[in-house]
Amino acid sequence: MTFQDLNLNTPLYNALHDLGYTTPTPIQAEAFNVVASGKDMVGIAQTGTGKTFAYMLPILKNLPFSKQETPRVLVLVPTRELVVQVVEEIEKLSKYINNRVLGVYGGTNINTQKQAIAEGVDILVATPGRLYDLALSRVLQLKSIQKLVIDEVDVMLDLGFRHQLINIFDILPEKRQNIMFSATMTQDVDLLINDFFKSPERVSIAVSGTPLENIAQQRYKVPNFYTKVNLLIHLLHDTETFNKVLIFVAYKKMADRLFENLDEHFKEELCVIHSNKTQNYRLRSIEQFRNGDNRILVATDVMARGLDIDNVSHVINFDTPEYPENYMHRIGRTGRAERKGEALIFSTGKEEEAIEKIESLMKMTIPVMDFLEEVEISNELIEEERPQVKERNNPTKRKDEDAPGPAFHEKSEKNSKENLGGSYKFKIAAKYKKPKTRGDKNYNKRNKRK
Ligand code: AMP
Repeated sequence: MTFQDLNLNTPLYNALHDLGYTTPTPIQAEAFNVVASGKDMVGIAQTGTGKTFAYMLPILKNLPFSKQETPRVLVLVPTRELVVQVVEEIEKLSKYINNRVLGVYGGTNINTQKQAIAEGVDILVATPGRLYDLALSRVLQLKSIQKLVIDEVDVMLDLGFRHQLINIFDILPEKRQNIMFSATMTQDVDLLINDFFKSPERVSIAVSGTPLENIAQQRYKVPNFYTKVNLLIHLLHDTETFNKVLIFVAYKKMADRLFENLDEHFKEELCVIHSNKTQNYRLRSIEQFRNGDNRILVATDVMARGLDIDNVSHVINFDTPEYPENYMHRIGRTGRAERKGEALIFSTGKEEEAIEKIESLMKMTIPVMDFLEEVEISNELIEEERPQVKERNNPTKRKDEDAPGPAFHEKSEKNSKENLGGSYKFKIAAKYKKPKTRGDKNYNKRNKRK
């Protein structure tokens, strides 16, 4: 397939010619007709796959010249770096098109941006917070937005932008096309899509289900979180074999919890990255892991996505990814550059279904290892593993009991039908270190008595 097959126009062909691009990347080829048709779309693609052009080619092809001042296309991205990068890409493609592209992001003078907006914009690229502030100030009118692109939805949600996004949806015209891109499918992404969009078409470049031959895979069946911790600690004590270990978990609360449990055993050798850590902290962790100062890195799927680290001896899937593609991405972090790598996966009974999905994608079975006798089996359960009281007629309750997020757990605890009486308040107070309910004046007194 060549760009000629996409039926673009001369200005776009000329721009592509100048760039030296002749063939659409797979995501560009897949997404073009869907975006051009005006349907809502969710594209699963990572950075580097050409995803920016995947949505911009059809958008630019169909965006007529206009003198109107209010923007018609809005692209939301999670970071200011990405604003800059996306604006650059759009400008490259727009070399022979008379359009106005503007990038806005937080942390810089808002007045300069207001002036730029007042001069008229066709395509606005923005981070959610700054976009919302500009819209509230009324300098920015969103009434003409016809197309909304949300890039890196997974990172966006992981950084806690869900509410910002929902606020923005509220002030956008209802009749618009929604185009979303995410590198990883996560429960958060699925929830957002199901809550706000009407069956968007899914476009993904097939993740190869064929794992590299030089990655050896093994599986341990483990009953619960704490037994997984015991097994992990046991394995990690073999520092010679496990010399550069990347451990994956699905969400940040789990990353923190695992980090705390490993910390006492592997203090100096351990680091963690997830989106609640500052950029500096994350960069430092990655650097320490990369150069070998730290032997063990705990990471979430979303944060580890862009990692480019060589010589990882083991990838350990501390949990079983619900989306089999994520498993392929995870294990691909080892066995790079012809070296041998090992991938282990720990799975509980509840995760058996996810294992089946992975195995059917790969068309192979992951060999199950005998459980090691030396490893203690724990009966202690974490909050998510304890039986939940089933309720009827609660439409707001999330279906997945394993889902991440403190708000969810707080709610499910509150909603459970046990009579928790006063002791519940007390438990919550202890957890949050300050009275949760007004009138719980005795909290401090009680605490002192302890
Ligand atoms: P992205 O995934 O959008 O960040 O794009 C990654 C890089 O690939 C960018 O530098 C693009 O300019 C480049 N690129 C996009 N489309 C193509 C193409 N069809 N052929 C070659 N390079 C491309």
